[in-house]
Amino acid sequence: MSKGRMPTIFLGHGSPMNAIEENAFHCGWRDVARGIPRPRAVLCISAHWEAKGFRVTLAERPETIHDFYGFPPALFEVVYPAPGDPALARRVADLLREAKPALDPGRGLDHGAWSVLRAMYPEADVPVVQLSLDRGRAPRDQFALARGLAPLREEGFLVLGSGNLVHNLGLLDGDLTAGFDWADRIDAGVKHRIEAGDDEGMVDWETLGPDARRAIPTLEHYLPLLYVLAVRKPGEKVSFFNEQRTMGSLSMTCVTVGEQ
Ligand code: ZN
Repeated sequence: MSKGRMPTIFLGHGSPMNAIEENAFHCGWRDVARGIPRPRAVLCISAHWEAKGFRVTLAERPETIHDFYGFPPALFEVVYPAPGDPALARRVADLLREAKPALDPGRGLDHGAWSVLRAMYPEADVPVVQLSLDRGRAPRDQFALARGLAPLREEGFLVLGSGNLVHNLGLLDGDLTAGFDWADRIDAGVKHRIEAGDDEGMVDWETLGPDARRAIPTLEHYLPLLYVLAVRKPGEKVSFFNEQRTMGSLSMTCVTVGEQ
């Protein structure tokens, strides 16, 4: 890899059960962590923390939030005890100062963060800070501000997005292990734009075609991908893994930016 620059990664997290099932998705997350240098800490942007304005976790010992329902008790018993990193939280707030982020000492880690981190760093020995999505800010503005996070990569931090590139829970079919045709088409379209470095096309996601609104009915699972692409250097190599659609309307596709 380029000297001193951490890769940056977007993970499709899908069902919270992927946290405790050692399936292909879980193993893909584990393997990507093994293939990159160990980060000083992780800055995670998860689909499951939207706030009014940007917020950054400040807790030294962030709690594990079980922000889902209808799953087996084993999932509610998961504790992911990774420490926080208040110095990183303050650094993030400084890099985004134009948007006046709030430091949040009470907020813990949501399942978008811990379900994938549990696979990546099972010892929970890499500190984690979360940055919220700003509910009131357009994707274009979030993308522009997220560019300011790029120096973190040079400082040894892993910028990690956790969402799903195609995510429509209303159309989910639990019996399917593949994707609907339209989900496959949007997944391919997004991949093509990422490979082409088409940031404008990523921000302007509705131009993905007539299936775009079905694949991305709400933005929160798509936006973490924009944060990862925002800290990409021009022309930087990308690779994909866990390239599978499941339950019809979920894409598990993950993206690694940077040499490995
Ligand atoms: Zn989710």
